Amino acid sequence: MINIGVLALQGAVREHAAALEAADVNVITVKRTEELNGLDGLVFPGGESTTMRRLIDKYGFFEPLKKFSEQGNPMFGTCAGAILMAKEIVGQDPHLGVMDMTVQRNAFGRQRESFEAPLKVKGIGDDVHGVFIRAPIIVSTGPAAEVISEYDGEIVAAKQGNFLACSYHPELTDDHRMHQYFVEMIRKNRLAA
Ligand code: GLN
Repeated sequence: MINIGVLALQGAVREHAAALEAADVNVITVKRTEELNGLDGLVFPGGESTTMRRLIDKYGFFEPLKKFSEQGNPMFGTCAGAILMAKEIVGQDPHLGVMDMTVQRNAFGRQRESFEAPLKVKGIGDDVHGVFIRAPIIVSTGPAAEVISEYDGEIVAAKQGNFLACSYHPELTDDHRMHQYFVEMIRKNRLAA
């Protein structure tokens, strides 16, 4: 059985757990650092990245999460989760800095603070239901990362080896293909190990 953790300090934790359970994996809601042991992959939910970072520091998660990423374990960040994973954040210091991309927070503008749109996501489908809530834009990706989705000329999803990030919230829809894709990434990683 594949064990996937959802970092459960803040944000849309239950929704991610439900989407992963639909993909038939064992889900662990991670509240203590010891719970990272034995995970095959980890999800960073959407929510509020500054708050999540504060809690990451408060509960001693920063170094263990860095180590988890350095060991090449698969990670998937949605919205605030993607912000946590980015190497650079426009106008502020980065958090975990594991993915070769620059993000800009709340970047779709006031009139479009939240909206839904169909997305073409490479390797997943042409009709992925994108839910954007005060979403970041991935302003640019470095050579190590691959753009897998754009909306309105802006990058909204990227992949880099075992890391996956998107600006939108697949956990808030009944379309679980992004989660299934992440589970497949983990399966391949286990086979390669
Ligand atoms: N705007 C939030 C942030 O900067 C992210 C919003 C979300 O996750 N829905 O952290």
